[in-house]
Amino acid sequence: MSAARETLARCRALLADVTPLPGDCGEVCGAACCRSLPGEETGMLLFPGEEAFYADRPGWKTVPAEGGALLICPGRCKRSERPLACRMFPLLPLARGEEIRVAVDARARAVCPLASSGVRGLRTDFTEAVRACGVLLRGDPALSDTLLRLTAWHDELRETQKRFGGG
Ligand code: SF4
Ligand code: SF4
Repeated sequence: MSAARETLARCRALLADVTPLPGDCGEVCGAACCRSLPGEETGMLLFPGEEAFYADRPGWKTVPAEGGALLICPGRCKRSERPLACRMFPLLPLARGEEIRVAVDARARAVCPLASSGVRGLRTDFTEAVRACGVLLRGDPALSDTLLRLTAWHDELRETQKRFGGG
């Protein structure tokens, strides 16, 4: 297994059982973050090498996208199947130089009812697992650029949200 794939496996394991709330948060919102618009497929960006976890898995496919590969999922899944992006949602580890700071993902503000409660409103073990995962990603030469790019996208979207009164 490549070093990056091992890092991804460790991150996925860190977030295998810990969840944002003590129960299933999907019951709060009808799994809003898994719903696609009519005529669209649900997709999320994979970390480099994460495609390997979905090779030959019926109901899942990957397509090329800006910044890597996009995973098209069935719209419902077990936690053990979901990609890292979904395991961390609605949080995101942000790379600030060598430091990792956990924040509510700017993309969550439009869909996730937990976004308004902030990082402190979520389970501490979940927040800590997202932070630990960020440290691992930042320390892996093959994955660090993706984390830096996600951080830049997040910051840009937050600026736009603030400019238009999005908090
Ligand atoms: S939108 Fe938020 S509350 Fe709903 S399932 Fe996704 S992470 Fe959980
Ligand atoms: S992979 Fe699973 S958690 Fe992620 S959007 Fe698809 S159904 Fe939802």
